Amino acid sequence: ATEVRLAARPHGMPTLDDFEIVDVDVPEPAPGQVLVRNRWLSVDPYMRGRMNAAKSYAEPYEVGKVMHGGAIGEVVRSTVDDLAVGDLVLHGLGWRTHAVLEPRHAARIDPEAAPPSAYLGVLGLTGLTAYVGLFDVARFAEGDTVFVSAAAGAVGSVAGQLARSRGARRVIGSAGSAEKVRYLREELGFDAAFDYHDGPVAEQLAAAAPDGIDVYFDNVGGEHLEAAIGSLNLHGRIAVCGMISQYNATEPTPAPRNLFQIVAKRFTMRGFLVGDHYDARPRFLEEVAPLVRDGSLRYSETVVEGIRNAPRAFLDLLAGANTGKMLVRVERG
Ligand code: NDP
Repeated sequence: ATEVRLAARPHGMPTLDDFEIVDVDVPEPAPGQVLVRNRWLSVDPYMRGRMNAAKSYAEPYEVGKVMHGGAIGEVVRSTVDDLAVGDLVLHGLGWRTHAVLEPRHAARIDPEAAPPSAYLGVLGLTGLTAYVGLFDVARFAEGDTVFVSAAAGAVGSVAGQLARSRGARRVIGSAGSAEKVRYLREELGFDAAFDYHDGPVAEQLAAAAPDGIDVYFDNVGGEHLEAAIGSLNLHGRIAVCGMISQYNATEPTPAPRNLFQIVAKRFTMRGFLVGDHYDARPRFLEEVAPLVRDGSLRYSETVVEGIRNAPRAFLDLLAGANTGKMLVRVERG
């Protein structure tokens, strides 16, 4: 068995030296437990925060311990009645080839309904994050113009398409490359998209949204947030999902300089955590699963092969190498 551990707490952008790949014995399930062999590991931006010592909404990783996170695997030994050998389960024990779990920490997934990896992405927490952020937090309404940042990423690509599917007037996305911009426009049906490297975000957003925006789905923070505030219409709403432009910052980052516009525009800005919204899962699946099944909501995955490449996948995610959900496929063996 193999596991990926935190070797050191990064300062700024992490490096491969901050991780350690260790070969260990395959663990034995005790009575009441199952042994799971992982197939897919989730690679997520919030893991960067957990590499710091400071307590945030998720517990810090411990140096020398496994990088916990979302994973999907197959039950290979079972001592319990409710999970059988061959069942596929979703769990949170992260970057290891083998995990020992109690059934209450393992959710069985249905591989007939969707490919297993989709339960880490579009039909999992990623999709739920987009759904609750757009509909419950930003209170999107038909006819709104919506701006999504990191729009070619896992959450952003779902958020933009959900806005379109519920009748947005206009959906605008920003992303970090010309190829991602093309993907947003041509494959995901965004009305407009731009590469934030091509010029000031405020100018590019104003050009893409001449009548302003009603909703901003923020994945990035910083300059993007300031630009969105500038383009926001009266009574606009901002759902703050994440601020990835600041995750590697080593100094406090400046607030949006135009925050005072909150008064005149009477806009609302609200942060949220998907973990507070698990109760929305049934209505999320009821609405989104059929869209995925009939192909009207598209999703991409960027798959990195082999658990030893999980650290590389994580660094690539922070650098924007992914389109859609970043995943590691665990080799068989
Ligand atoms: P993504 O698939 O969107 O991957 C991250 C993307 O961020 C990269 O592909 C890159 O794309 C972009 N990025 C990286 N650095 C910068 C930068 N400096 N400026 C602008 N864009 C940057 O990841 P997720 O979909 O998993 O997560 C998206 C956001 O949602 C993150 O902020 C994450 O923390 C947050 N999140 C919040 C949750 C919650 O409960 N609130 C739950 C899940 C995610 P590009 O090429 O466009 O730069």
